[in-house]
Amino acid sequence: MPDIIQLLPDHVANQIAAGEVIQRPASAVKELMENAVDAGAKNIQLIIKDGGRSLIQVIDNGSGMSGLDARLSFSRHATSKIRKADDLWALRTMGFRGEALASVAAVAQVEMRTRQNGEELGTHIIIEGSEVKKQEPTACPEGTSVAIKNLFFNVPARRNFLKSNPVETKHIIDEFQRVALAYPGVGFSFINNDQETCRLMPGTFKQRIVGVFGSGWNERIVSVNEETTVVQISGFIGKPEYSRKTRGEQFFFINNRFIKNSYLHHAVQAAFTDLIASDTFPAYFLRLQVDPKTIDINIHPTKTEIKFEDESSVYAILRSGIRRAIGTFSLSPSLNFENEPAFDILSTRSREINPPGIFINPDYNPFSKSASGPDAVQSIGQARWEQLAGKPAMSANQSDFSTDISRPSNTSDELPEKTVPWLLHGRYICTHVKSGLMLIDQQGARERILYERFMKNAGHSGQSQQLLFPVAREFSAPDFELLQALRNEFHSLGFDFEPFGKNTVKINGVPPEVQDTDIKTLFDQLLEQFKTSQQDLRLHRLDNLAKTLSSNAARFISRSLGPEQMTVIIEQLFACETPGYSPSGKPVVSIVGLDELGTRFGR
Ligand code: ADP
Ligand code: MG
Repeated sequence: MPDIIQLLPDHVANQIAAGEVIQRPASAVKELMENAVDAGAKNIQLIIKDGGRSLIQVIDNGSGMSGLDARLSFSRHATSKIRKADDLWALRTMGFRGEALASVAAVAQVEMRTRQNGEELGTHIIIEGSEVKKQEPTACPEGTSVAIKNLFFNVPARRNFLKSNPVETKHIIDEFQRVALAYPGVGFSFINNDQETCRLMPGTFKQRIVGVFGSGWNERIVSVNEETTVVQISGFIGKPEYSRKTRGEQFFFINNRFIKNSYLHHAVQAAFTDLIASDTFPAYFLRLQVDPKTIDINIHPTKTEIKFEDESSVYAILRSGIRRAIGTFSLSPSLNFENEPAFDILSTRSREINPPGIFINPDYNPFSKSASGPDAVQSIGQARWEQLAGKPAMSANQSDFSTDISRPSNTSDELPEKTVPWLLHGRYICTHVKSGLMLIDQQGARERILYERFMKNAGHSGQSQQLLFPVAREFSAPDFELLQALRNEFHSLGFDFEPFGKNTVKINGVPPEVQDTDIKTLFDQLLEQFKTSQQDLRLHRLDNLAKTLSSNAARFISRSLGPEQMTVIIEQLFACETPGYSPSGKPVVSIVGLDELGTRFGR
C-alpha cells in the first residue's frame, strides 16, 4: 500500500484557518485595528468601501515593521507576542495567535506599507491568495498601513454569503466602536465610502462614550468605581430612568478587551432589579481589570468570551459596586461626578448611609439561556448607526457639560434639612436642601419605603392586620396552586390565609398598608403581575411580589398630608437603601439647584 497522508500546502491550510478567523469584513476590521493598538499606535484610521467588500484599510502610527518582519507577519503562527506556552497566561496584547494576517492574505488581495521609527525606508508588500506578488523598499510614513481588497475574491461561497452593504457596515461599526471604547487614549477616525463619519480625539473614557454615542450620554450615565484585589472595576452605568426596552449599549471590557459574558451581564441586571421596570435594560460601559493569570480568553475563536477563575466573587463585587454607584448618585440626582471635586467626600459619606446589600437570588441559574442569552451584547440599533454613519463628526472634546442644570454646589449635604416641608398640588413634597429645592414624589416615596419594608421581612411573617370579616375567595386551579407555592412569600408580606375547600382560600389578614383595598382584586393583581414579571426576568419571588404590592398600596396617596406626616415620609425614605428611585425605576427625588434658580432670575 502506498502512503496516503500528505501535508496540506500552506495556502490551503491558511484558507481553511481563515474560515475561522475571518468570517466577514468586520472580523478583518477587528484584527487590523487590534494589531494597530498592539503596535502602540496613538492614532488609527479605518477606511472602508462597500461594506468592506471592496476595501478595508487600517492606517496607524505605531511601531511599524522591519522588512523581514513585514514578510513574516503573513506566515501562519507568526507572532511577536508570545515566545513560549507560558507567555499565554500573562498576555496583555489583543492578538497573540499569529493567524490574522495569514488568514486575511489567504482570502484577499492585501497591500501593506510599513516603516519603523527611525528607519529611512519602509517596506511595500503585495500578497494575493497567500502568494507574495511584490516586495520592495518604499518611501512611506512611519507606522503601518494594511489594505485588504476584494475580500473572499477566491472563495465565492463566502463572498456570496455576505449580507447587504448596510448590514456589513453595521457589523464593522460595532467592531470599530468596541475598539474605540476599549482605548479612549487613542485617537480614531472612520471613513466610509470616502466620507469621514467619525473622528474621536484621545480623552477620558467618559469623553469617548459621549464621542461615540452622542452628547446626550453625558447626562445619562454615572460612574462606577470599585477596587478590590480580585478585580478593579471602573466605568459607567446608565441611570435607571434611561433604561430601555431593547438591549442597547452594553459593554464589558476585561483588560481592555471587549467581551460578552452572560453571567456578568446578569450581575448588572440584578443590581438594577428594583430600580427599573422588569422588561427594560440598563446601559453599561464597564471596564474590569484582572490579573491575566486568572482568566481564560482562549475558549472561543473570535475571543469575545471569557472564563474567570473566581467567577462568583467577580459577580458579587460587580453587583454591589453598581448598587453603591446608584445609591451615591441617587442622593444627588444630577451630579456630574467627573467634574465634582467633592466626589470622594460624597462617596465615603454615602457608604455610611447606604451599605451595599448583596441579595443572593436562590432561583438564579447562570447557565440558563433565558436568564440572559448569548445575545447579551447586541449590535447597535438603527438609530445609532445612522447617527454614526450619517452625521458629521463629533469631537469627544466637545462634550457638553453645561446642560447639567441642577448640580448641587455642596454635595456632602444633600439630605433634606430639618425645615417644615409643604405639599405641592397634593402630590410633591417640597423641602430645603443645601443646594436648593428638593421635590419628592409622594407616590414613588411610599413605594420605595413599602418595598424595602416588605423585603426586610423575608423569611419572617410580616405584620398583618386581621380582617374583621375574613373573606373566602375561589381561584382557578392553576392560580390556587401558585398561591400555595407562594404561601411563604405572601406570609412575609403580611398576608394571612388558609386553604378553604376546593380551589378556595380563606383570607384572615392583610398587610396594614393595604387595608382599604378591595382584597379580591388585590390578590388577582398580585398573581397576574407575578406571572408576567416572572417570565420576563426570573425575579426573586418575594422581590417580585413586594414590587407589585408596594406599587399597589402606594397608589392611595393622601392629597392632604400634614407637615408631621411629610417629615415621617422624608425620614423613612432617606433611611432606605436606594431613596432616589421607586422599585419600578422611576425617579423619586429631584433637586432644583440654586444655580438653576439663579439663572431663571437672571442672576
Ligand atoms: P498576532 O496579532 O496574533 O500576533 P497577526 O497575524 O495579527 O498575529 O500579526 C502578526 C504579527 O505581525 C504581529 O505579532 C506583529 O508583530 C506584526 N504586526 C501586525 N500588524 C502590525 C501593525 N499594524 N504594526 C506593527 N506590527 C504589526
Ligand atoms: Mg493580530
